[in-house]
Amino acid sequence: MRIFVPKETHPGENRVPLIPATVRKIVDRGGDVVVESGMGLASHHSDEAYTDAGAKVTLDRETALSEANLVLRLRKPAIEEVRKLGDGSIHISFLDPFNEHELVSALAASGVSAISMEMIPRTTLAQKMDALSSQASLAGYVAVILAANRLDKAYPMMMTAAGTIAPARVFIIGVGVAGLQAIATAKRLGARVEAFDTRPVVEEQVQSLGAKFVKVDLGETGETEQGYAKELTEEQQAKQREAMAKVCAQSDVVITTAQLFGRPAPRIVTREMVESMNPGSVIVDLAVETGGNVEGSEPDQEVEVGGVKILGLANLPGRVCANASQMYSSNLGALIEHFWDDDKKEMALNLEDEIMQGCLITHQGEIVHEQIRELIKT
Ligand code: NAD
Repeated sequence: MRIFVPKETHPGENRVPLIPATVRKIVDRGGDVVVESGMGLASHHSDEAYTDAGAKVTLDRETALSEANLVLRLRKPAIEEVRKLGDGSIHISFLDPFNEHELVSALAASGVSAISMEMIPRTTLAQKMDALSSQASLAGYVAVILAANRLDKAYPMMMTAAGTIAPARVFIIGVGVAGLQAIATAKRLGARVEAFDTRPVVEEQVQSLGAKFVKVDLGETGETEQGYAKELTEEQQAKQREAMAKVCAQSDVVITTAQLFGRPAPRIVTREMVESMNPGSVIVDLAVETGGNVEGSEPDQEVEVGGVKILGLANLPGRVCANASQMYSSNLGALIEHFWDDDKKEMALNLEDEIMQGCLITHQGEIVHEQIRELIKT
């Protein structure tokens, strides 16, 4: 099986899809790996490191794309490049299929079997392949470090001869994978941490990390079969905002990570709430790329409102690109390994497999993922 890994082209992207250690594993199983020259450089992997791991290096991206049986990427492909992919080839990357209707249709029209990394089921069996989790965990860590860097206070309590410094108060809204890592990081740095999530099951996890769970009686909130949060009613949203306002006003750092899978992020922190915070405080909006949890946050910008800094920086995992690449590469490697046929020495698309059913979006000229097909039809 000819596997091609093109260089990422998204401006500023410094994560790479495959690192040499994973190449070695695929080559050992009989895969024929070709990487575009310079593919790993953004994360400091030279062409030579890939050839040492058993890959071939090419300068001819177009030919490699058209000859590949399997293409591995991090970001979604450009539509012009989809047309170059071979009929019957497999393409694996993040795809944003809920929003990228034209791209999904183009992949189907080209006869490509497209696997979307954000659609890998959140199950125990698929945990090793779960790139949403691996990247979110790093994003949670980076958010806390960025906030520490922009805050005009220290995180830990310090008792010194010159007096006692109170610990910084950090409030995490949304306790999924990113939120949990943010809590753990802020705790390690000595902050006093509070957290809130609409899924009540999270309370115990927050407490086990030594943080305080902010209790708000919202009535029935529930979660989807996959464990994602459901959208709140207008009345519940108003109740939540009221409760969040009190905690935000007392916090030095607010980190928001609240997402609704496949939908725009809920707006939780209003301008009024930002203005109620002390000047010098910092807000990090991790949901900025899906619409933002914070009023006034701008993608890839730091905005100041009444002395409060709002950081809406995109691609936080890219700020620790060595680890982000390592983890994404490992996710891809685990996915390929799970479906690898050792006799044919190729990745076999087992359509009966639950993981494949969850993440395969297009196949043999059709949009085969039911949820995405219904969405694109309407
Ligand atoms: P996510 O990125 O979709 O959302 C982040 C968090 O925001 C979630 O915890 C969500 O409940 C919360 N949220 C949504 N609306 C909110 C609001 N109005 N106010 C406050 N919080 C709000 O979540 P995720 O990190 O991708 O995790 C989603 C689910 O998947 C979780 O249940 C997680 O435990 C589960 N998960 C399971 C596995 C596994 O079993 N392999 C792996 C990863 C995640």
